[in-house]
Amino acid sequence: MRAWPPKVAKGPPVPTAYLDRDGTINRDKAGSYILKLSQFRLYAAAPAAVKLLNAKGYRVVVLTNQSAVGRGYMTMAVSRAINLKMVRELRRAGASVDAVYFCPHAPEAACACRKPRPGLINEAAKDRPADQALSFMAGDKKCDLDLARNAGIKGRLVLTGQWRHSLGAAAAKKGFKDLLTLARALPDVSGGKKRKPR
Ligand SMILES: [Mg+2]
Ligand SMILES: [Zn+2]
Repeated sequence: MRAWPPKVAKGPPVPTAYLDRDGTINRDKAGSYILKLSQFRLYAAAPAAVKLLNAKGYRVVVLTNQSAVGRGYMTMAVSRAINLKMVRELRRAGASVDAVYFCPHAPEAACACRKPRPGLINEAAKDRPADQALSFMAGDKKCDLDLARNAGIKGRLVLTGQWRHSLGAAAAKKGFKDLLTLARALPDVSGGKKRKPR
């Protein structure tokens, strides 16, 4: 389900940075959910990371499982508001998120969009296709990497969130310290084109 923006402009396939939210862009704790606006805290390096992704020519799309909605811990409206808060806080720091999609379903719902199922990526790609070869999915959990595999794009692990609980210590060798470290390691795909201000 798209949380933001209300409409997506059509266009040719673009290199896309698909980013997980909790544990990748903002602080996350194992076994708890972000249920209130006040619990949402960007990682200090997140604005610089997204800014760098913008500068390097990536469309930035956030994909997040928010099963707390389906479990009845939070309303859809609050979940949307938290996603908008993320977009706004990043924008205030000069970083642009192009779109946010979330899965509000509980695991038992067996929906098509709960990561690692590819529903959210399919929905995003329907709005604006991704250049498969230059796109990637970055996240802090096994389900993010599995989603990348299911969608046929590269997966990138960040070591800021919950990887320890789903992937174990061996995964650390393949991971990036944080989203900014990953953004620095990525190629510039802008082709010298300046990003259009939205
Ligand atoms: Mg996460
Ligand atoms: Zn879903």
